[in-house]
Amino acid sequence: MGDDLTNRIQTLAQWLYESRYPVFFTGAGISTESGLPDFRGPDGLWTRRDKGLPPRPGTPAWDSVHPNKGHLAIVELQNLGKLRFLISQNVDNLHLKSGIRPELLAELHGNITKVRCDRCGKTLDRSLGLKVCDCGGRFVPSVVDFGQPLPEKDLVLSFEHSQKCDLFIVAGSSLVVTPAANMPREALKAGARLVIINQGETPLDRSAHLRFNEPTGEVLPRVVKRLKNLMGFFE
Ligand SMILES: [Zn+2]
Repeated sequence: MGDDLTNRIQTLAQWLYESRYPVFFTGAGISTESGLPDFRGPDGLWTRRDKGLPPRPGTPAWDSVHPNKGHLAIVELQNLGKLRFLISQNVDNLHLKSGIRPELLAELHGNITKVRCDRCGKTLDRSLGLKVCDCGGRFVPSVVDFGQPLPEKDLVLSFEHSQKCDLFIVAGSSLVVTPAANMPREALKAGARLVIINQGETPLDRSAHLRFNEPTGEVLPRVVKRLKNLMGFFE
């Protein structure tokens, strides 16, 4: 098994090396490795809230949680020029906290630290305390609840980049929430390689060109290390 993992890590590093347009897609799985409970899963923070239940005992406050090895590996890829776009289903702000450039990130379900204008869609830090937008709209929490439409700009950008990419890497998502889960399908249609790193099955496992059932935080840092060797960085 160990050798098989090494081979798959080597393959993904090689594909990243060759890729001109790598796109990442992250879900709750990448953040649960930071000790953060997921929000919308069966026992997630909001699933419980909607049932009138308190967070599970021992749940850390979301703002005390830090980016983990998986988040930091994606930042390294960004800095190596190997991240054209990052699509995330997470609202925990850990990608921005880790150093991802905001223009490379779509947050499909919003961000717990941000408010969004209900008329023009502009987002701002919640901490600014503004209630009314220049356009006359009202600032409301940016986080999208079940059944609400996703933010249009983030959605459009995500589909555009999915259709342009040549390598689509899923990290920590079970790919069941649509329309987000359709993005890897768009990438496949456009001829991209699909890589899925997720602990647990996904509906696209059979279509994936490479599959990791290991935690993102164990896979991606090793991939980055191999990639740096391929790119001529020696430590
Ligand atoms: Zn506005």
